[in-house]
Amino acid sequence: MDEIGFEDFCAQHDILIHFNDQLSTRIRGFCYYDGAYYHVIINSRFTIYQQQKTFFHEVIHIMENHFSCDPDHQDQCEQQAKELVKEIMEQFSDVITG
Ligand SMILES: [Zn+2]
Repeated sequence: MDEIGFEDFCAQHDILIHFNDQLSTRIRGFCYYDGAYYHVIINSRFTIYQQQKTFFHEVIHIMENHFSCDPDHQDQCEQQAKELVKEIMEQFSDVITG
C-alpha cells in the first residue's frame, strides 16, 4: 500500500487501514465507521494484489456511503463496489503491480 502513496488520501478522508493476518480467508476485508474514523481492515493473508483490490473495494463503500445501505439493497452496493474496483484497477494499472 505504501508504495502507491495512499497515506495522504486516507488522511484526508479520515480512513485508517489495518492489516490483519488472523482473519479467516473467507473474509478479504471489511470496514466500519467509529463515529470519527473509517477503519478499513485488510486480510493480509491474501496477495498484495488482492489486498489492493480489497482496499479499493472498502474505500468505495466508504466513499459511496454504503454504511447507510439498506440491507435489502446490499447486493446492489456490493455490485456497485465491484464494478468501481474494476474501473479503478484499470486506471491505476500502471502503478499497481500484480
Ligand atoms: Zn463489499
